[in-house]
Amino acid sequence: MVLPPFALHRPTTTAQALSLLAEDSVPYSGGTELLLAMRMGLIRPTALVDLKRIPEMQEIRTDRSRLLIGAGVSHDRLATDPLVEQHARLLAAAEREVGNARVRAQGSIGGNICFGEPRSDVATVLIALEAELGLANSAGERSVPAEEFFLGPYWTARDATELLTAISIPLPCAEGVYLKFQTVERPTVAVAAVRRPGGDYRVVVGAVGEVPVWADYPGVGEVDPVDLVGRTSPVSDLTGSERYKRHVTEVYIRRAAELLAESER
Ligand SMILES: Cc1cc2nc3c(=O)[nH]c(=O)nc-3n(C[C@H](O)[C@H](O)[C@H](O)COP(=O)(O)OP(=O)(O)OC[C@H]3O[C@@H](n4cnc5c(N)ncnc54)[C@H](O)[C@@H]3O)c2cc1C
Repeated sequence: MVLPPFALHRPTTTAQALSLLAEDSVPYSGGTELLLAMRMGLIRPTALVDLKRIPEMQEIRTDRSRLLIGAGVSHDRLATDPLVEQHARLLAAAEREVGNARVRAQGSIGGNICFGEPRSDVATVLIALEAELGLANSAGERSVPAEEFFLGPYWTARDATELLTAISIPLPCAEGVYLKFQTVERPTVAVAAVRRPGGDYRVVVGAVGEVPVWADYPGVGEVDPVDLVGRTSPVSDLTGSERYKRHVTEVYIRRAAELLAESER
């Protein structure tokens, strides 16, 4: 599994990076997924566009109404950054549990999202927090809600010529509970249950199906685990049968809703 040859570009601005992107000239951040996929011969880009030297991709800041996170920020930084802890505790907590020490140090939030790996803690939490994903290409910029970004396994709304530049989370941030069930690398079932700033509730189920699913409820007592499990698409694999995963998912949704209700008493 030797890496095939490729050219390496090291832009220092987003504009430079965008001018270098093409179908076979792809963004490269921590490389935890990309280099593995290249080693396995699953993708064969002729050039990598390294995003690590672009300062704005490494920023974490707030403006009046949003927490803004550069796409290149590592899981480790998100787990420990004071602004993230202050404004988006659920994200910080989930980030502390991502992968292993190497993946957290090297892997970026943007790489996690753009790879479209279904077993993602990050995607589950970002949908719960109603994040917006900032995309740019040489023709302009657009913003896509996290809930519309994940289209299927390893398939997202990002065009090959686009960069994910930043993740924007509305403030005040939804608060709640994040639970995951995991026996091997990456979660088997991930559940985020939050009270939204408007006072209603959102439950997101990730990892277990092809894409995260979610539902909104006027009260936490109205969360319907059976209905929500029915919306997922688990498949039998080494981490469990479809039936087993549906059962675990239902238990975790129920538990998350109970914990959220308890936290409000
Ligand atoms: C062993 C292991 C365990 C893991 N466990 C977990 C887990 O428990 N929970 C979880 O949620 N995740 C887990 N992951 C996934 C991990 O979070 C991702 O591998 C990591 O975040 C990817 O980031 P990266 O910077 O390394 O991406 P890269 O490998 O550099 O890139 C990944 C993909 O995204 C593209 N890309 C990267 N940045 C951008 C950008 N800014 N704009 C557009 N496209 C971009 C690349 O072209 C590539 O297609 C695990 C991964 C591994 C290898």
